[in-house]
Amino acid sequence: MPILLAIAGLAFLALIFGPQLWIRRVMTRHGTERPDLPGTGGELARHLLDEADLRGVTVELTGDGDHYDPEARAVRLTPQHHDARSIAAVAVAAHEVSHAVQHARGEPAFARRLDLVRRLVWVERLASVVLLLTPVVFLLVKSPALAVLQIAAGLALLGIRIAVHALTLPVELDASFGKALPALTRGRYLSAGDLPAARSVLQAAAYTYVAAALAALIYVARWFRVLRF
Ligand SMILES: [Zn+2]
Repeated sequence: MPILLAIAGLAFLALIFGPQLWIRRVMTRHGTERPDLPGTGGELARHLLDEADLRGVTVELTGDGDHYDPEARAVRLTPQHHDARSIAAVAVAAHEVSHAVQHARGEPAFARRLDLVRRLVWVERLASVVLLLTPVVFLLVKSPALAVLQIAAGLALLGIRIAVHALTLPVELDASFGKALPALTRGRYLSAGDLPAARSVLQAAAYTYVAAALAALIYVARWFRVLRF
């Protein structure tokens, strides 16, 4: 029985952390400097945006993970992608520019995702409140059943985040394979030999949010242990 539990525990951890480890490995493997590439990720992003007639969209540095911000209309890239010449930098830049294109074209799937992600902020706040109040309610009511119910409710709310990112994966896959890969091929920014590597980076970029949402479950569990009663 303990062996079965250990196996179940390991499988659970692999499911939660596996995707994030895989993304990090792909980005590192294809993040090596390639002086032969025509430009940095930041330069390519600017070029692709201009080509798409999106001169109003800015390209900025961020320490907060590569993303497109629809409120500020900004493509934000981390230093290792903004300032580097690597396959990872070029592919990630093209992926984020593709979100700006989806936004500018008013693509319905992008608009739906934006709406869902905005609502998610409230779901996450509610989850935090439910989880934070668990020890307080337990001290007041002394009901373990109620505490378990509260933790389950909190985690279920966090599960909504995973569901939203999984359901909106088509928007990410379109950014990677419907737009970024064709743009990189069309403009000959990468040689044919580099395309398989670009493809893995684009795959990893598409799964970033699902992976982060899965890993968030464990962070909450760890945070919760600190509040153990
Ligand atoms: Zn994306």
